[in-house]
Amino acid sequence: MGAFAYVAPTTVAEALGVLEEHASQGKRAQILAGGTDLLVQLQSVDRTPRTIVDIKKLEEANRVEVGADETFVGAAVASAVLNENEELKQRFPGLIEAADLIGSTQIQGRATIAGNLCNASPAGDTIPALIAIGAVCVIASESGNRELAVEDFVTGVGTNALQDGEFLVGLKIPNPPARTADAYLRFIPRTEMDIAVAGAGVALTLDDAGTCTAARVSIGAVAPTALLVTAAADALVGTSVDDDALAAAAAACSAAASPITDKRGTVEYRRKVVGVLCKRAAAIARDRAQA
Ligand SMILES: Cc1cc2nc3c(=O)[nH]c(=O)nc-3n(C[C@H](O)[C@H](O)[C@H](O)COP(=O)(O)OP(=O)(O)OC[C@H]3O[C@@H](n4cnc5c(N)ncnc54)[C@H](O)[C@@H]3O)c2cc1C
Repeated sequence: MGAFAYVAPTTVAEALGVLEEHASQGKRAQILAGGTDLLVQLQSVDRTPRTIVDIKKLEEANRVEVGADETFVGAAVASAVLNENEELKQRFPGLIEAADLIGSTQIQGRATIAGNLCNASPAGDTIPALIAIGAVCVIASESGNRELAVEDFVTGVGTNALQDGEFLVGLKIPNPPARTADAYLRFIPRTEMDIAVAGAGVALTLDDAGTCTAARVSIGAVAPTALLVTAAADALVGTSVDDDALAAAAAACSAAASPITDKRGTVEYRRKVVGVLCKRAAAIARDRAQA
């Protein structure tokens, strides 16, 4: 490994100053959250020198606030902390389900959902879960904060919409209306510690009669980025989320997928599995919304 520098700013302004200074001098700076992707990549993929900017000392990035209108989850909050937050589990069971699938207990003690998103792996588990619940990225820059829907944040395999000098401070999630619930499911060949062959996140709202009035469906690991599948949501809205609606939503997900063949599965297999996962996740979300 070459020469590295490490800084741990204590304010957002200080962190932005470091990023801006590096950008203006054509030098590389990279954010460190939990480091569970970054340190692996530094060891095995890209050892070029850079300044590591640790965001774990930033108050704003450590904030979790379940407010009256929206929830904020700071970018430095470890999955293990989220997994033990009963309010979050109740509001966004699907997101917590996804966070709880990442790695092991040890990994979850460091890993963040913001890091999972910024890393922009097609198989990142929290990304479809975040898209399903309509999460929004809060991005800090020297000209102020800007917001971007999660479905627009990942731009390709390993790339995201952050510009030089910017970083993700946290995620804002609108509070779900009554009788709304989400769910996330993935398929892996092993029982744990593997990456998704396919994943599906679903959030839906029911009215008093049990008719679906709103839905968002997102699929992962079956395209270069997680996809928001509006055709699948359309298949659920206006129905009681019965078997026919679930089958139509599944077919829409399979059709939207553009997967690759690799050692974990073929194109055909992934298309099939992602439909099944959509169907099952939607049924879980429906049952949760009815409870
Ligand atoms: C053993 C093991 C098992 C794993 N299992 C899974 C799994 O089942 N599912 C899964 O999806 N992933 C898995 N991962 C990958 C990894 O743990 C997750 O992607 C994790 O959520 C990354 O979060 P982090 O905080 O550790 O990110 P980091 O490693 O700190 O950062 C990841 C990338 O995002 C950038 N970044 C991080 N935060 C920000 C920010 N706030 N603003 C701008 N850029 C930022 C970093 O610069 C880096 O490029 C696994 C990893 C390991 C080592």
